Amino acid sequence: MSCIFCEIIERKRPAEIVYEDEKVLVFKDINPQAPIHLLIIPKKHITGIQEIKEDDIEIVGYMFFIARKIAEDLGINNYEKGYRLIFNVGKDAGQSIFHLHLHLIAGRKLNWPPG
Ligand code: 5GP
Ligand code: ZN
Repeated sequence: MSCIFCEIIERKRPAEIVYEDEKVLVFKDINPQAPIHLLIIPKKHITGIQEIKEDDIEIVGYMFFIARKIAEDLGINNYEKGYRLIFNVGKDAGQSIFHLHLHLIAGRKLNWPPG
């Protein structure tokens, strides 16, 4: 089964990688919705929030922890600036890639509610 994000992890597909460790990879979204638009993905292939198991609690929490660390490096982890962290779950919610990914979107005023 081919997966675009697994290909990025395996370096079979190019991406602008901004952070990597043994558990996650973070890279720039190819079609950014804001000046800062990063995707935080687990190296383990999980199709989406739809299939997370109890064993995945740690990796999902870790994805948020890495998001916070990156936001801190970018100077936006505060009450003045800020950022949005999003999981699109299923096609109606806008999920188009079926490898779990957390969007980190920032760098402009974000509307609420989202469309
Ligand atoms: P989703 O719509 O599933 O929540 O988010 C998938 C995201 O992946 C989209 O924002 C889309 O722009 C991004 N994306 C799709 N294909 C690629 C790719 O090959 N490289 C990168 N860097 N981002 C991609
Ligand atoms: Zn995958």
